[in-house]
Amino acid sequence: MANVATFEAGTAQLLMGNEGIARGALEAGIGFASAYPGNPSSEIIGTLADVAADAGIYVEWSINEKVALEAAAAAAFAGVRSICAMKHNGLNVVLDFLMGLNVTGTKAGLVLVTCDDPGALSSTEEEDSRPVAKWACVPLLEPATFQEEKDMTRWAFELSEQFKTMFLLRGVTRTSHARGDVRIGERLPPNREARFTVDVPLQYTAIPAPPKHMAAHQRQERIREVFEEAPFNWYQGPEKPELLIATCGSGWFYSIEAVRALKAEDRVGILKLGTTWPLPEKLVRRNLARAEKVLVVEEIDPFLENNLKELVGEDPAAVGPKKFYGKRSGHIPSAGEINPDIVTAALAKILDIEHAPVDPDYSQKALALTSFFVHPRMVGFCAGCPHRATFWSVKNALKLDGRDGFVTGDIGCYTMAVGPTGFWQLKTAQAMGSAAGMACGFGNLKGLGFKQPVIAACGDSTFFHATIPALISGIYNKADYILLVLDNSATAMTGFQPHPGTGRTATGGPAPAIDIADVCRALGVRTEVTDPFDLQGTTEKLLDLLEDDGKVRVLVSRRECQLVRARREKAPYVMRVDQEKCIGETCGCARLCTRVFQCPGLIWDAAKGAARIDEVICAGCGVCADICSAGAIIREAAQ
Ligand code: SF4
Ligand code: SF4
Repeated sequence: MANVATFEAGTAQLLMGNEGIARGALEAGIGFASAYPGNPSSEIIGTLADVAADAGIYVEWSINEKVALEAAAAAAFAGVRSICAMKHNGLNVVLDFLMGLNVTGTKAGLVLVTCDDPGALSSTEEEDSRPVAKWACVPLLEPATFQEEKDMTRWAFELSEQFKTMFLLRGVTRTSHARGDVRIGERLPPNREARFTVDVPLQYTAIPAPPKHMAAHQRQERIREVFEEAPFNWYQGPEKPELLIATCGSGWFYSIEAVRALKAEDRVGILKLGTTWPLPEKLVRRNLARAEKVLVVEEIDPFLENNLKELVGEDPAAVGPKKFYGKRSGHIPSAGEINPDIVTAALAKILDIEHAPVDPDYSQKALALTSFFVHPRMVGFCAGCPHRATFWSVKNALKLDGRDGFVTGDIGCYTMAVGPTGFWQLKTAQAMGSAAGMACGFGNLKGLGFKQPVIAACGDSTFFHATIPALISGIYNKADYILLVLDNSATAMTGFQPHPGTGRTATGGPAPAIDIADVCRALGVRTEVTDPFDLQGTTEKLLDLLEDDGKVRVLVSRRECQLVRARREKAPYVMRVDQEKCIGETCGCARLCTRVFQCPGLIWDAAKGAARIDEVICAGCGVCADICSAGAIIREAAQ
């Protein structure tokens, strides 16, 4: 990632949207940054962590999003401008604190960046963060361009400090991860005289609730007035267009492209809004009055659409009759990512413009043309991933146990075990920490006839993030389940960020490494540690723990993520398949290694009727040698 601390003011830099936010925060003079990693937001704090020493700021990966915001708020209360970043799911974790912070206010500027993931490209669910701004009375900004990512972040800090309230800045995957030119500004120095003082009684408490709630509403109206003049809102197009597009964020680019594609510049106007809550009412009404037809273009929920309708409903005479198009009319889909083709099709339909839509099979045809260059691969664990080995043992142990046991899951690489790569072992996947939380419920149904063993699977980062309370609740309430911690020594899914178990801080310095097994033993529960690559040993330990039922037990399946290991050292084994020995179609379940175990390092050689190793992909972990009953997969120590 770019060293955003060393850019010279006045230069233009090619920046990823998230790097722009990081640079904007530095230009605003932040001294504190915190986050829990989650795509598509991770690069914001990753970028700041890389330059923390150059910039003279403090940066941390917090244990979860709530702690991250609490820590950032504390720094802001002490007079230090602070940024906190997370993905949309993280905002759910934060809400308990946020719903007090929104009325408490702040001293120094405080900006919470939340990045939504339309289409859930790297998420388990799709969610729109913006309604939180409305019901929490928090001002909301939505950058549309790379320059705005930076400039809006800086502006948000100024306003946050002026109005003594936190600002929310919403990104989406495409604005966060795409790159564009950004003109660099001057950096303000961080406040180096942090000090917490209370100027008036109850300044930093949410109580007394009604007057503080009322003050938050009044503050919102004052911010609305500032938003009327915001440089991030504008109209482009004819004075009286036939149709007005109202848009924000990524929708603005798509709208411009659609209008150009249909050569409809003299029929369509675009109202681009960067301040989407509270809406600048006068500016919006002025522009809505331009046209009877309004198409709202935005990603995920009809947030802007509903708020515009609300505004029109409050004073219909001010804007005249309106016909709205958008998600509720079905012109813009209400789930998944949008793109220029979708907006073009919507515009063409409303304006009755002849338009040849993109061939619905275009993606499939493009894929067919390019598949020659790309090895086909399903969504699954990487070659040599310890999680595949763990779930292989889980599958075998539950089968041998024979009591119809099952696994509850939560969020991380291992969530992929809901599918064939984890042998369909995960039966639930909702939220961070929910595996153990749900096991607390399943594990206390014995009096109601429930007899199935329950294994709750979480990752190492998830253990610290949200599993510990559920573990303690299970112990306290005498639940019957095995907590299986898949400890690969990294927050692997989001880019290998360190966590409290790794012994490293966000900026690469040493930290006390908290051992998960020690934490569990300290809670008084039976705790075993296993190496997932020892398939037999892991299966036996699981069987033993399954038999030792009636309480919470823990198995820590510990093996470093192979991608992390591979950065540091060579593969331990050189693998090959003795194709003379391979019995292929007639081996267990037919082609056990390539059809069932499915490590991408193993491929089926149809011409030879035997498996073989893909030397480019194989990580040399050696595990598959133990699953081949014919002894055809050969493992030799690397030289
Ligand atoms: S040794 Fe086998 S299991 Fe390990 S990465 Fe290679 S092919 Fe996959
Ligand atoms: S290598 Fe072993 S497991 Fe794979 S198909 Fe051949 S016999 Fe079966």
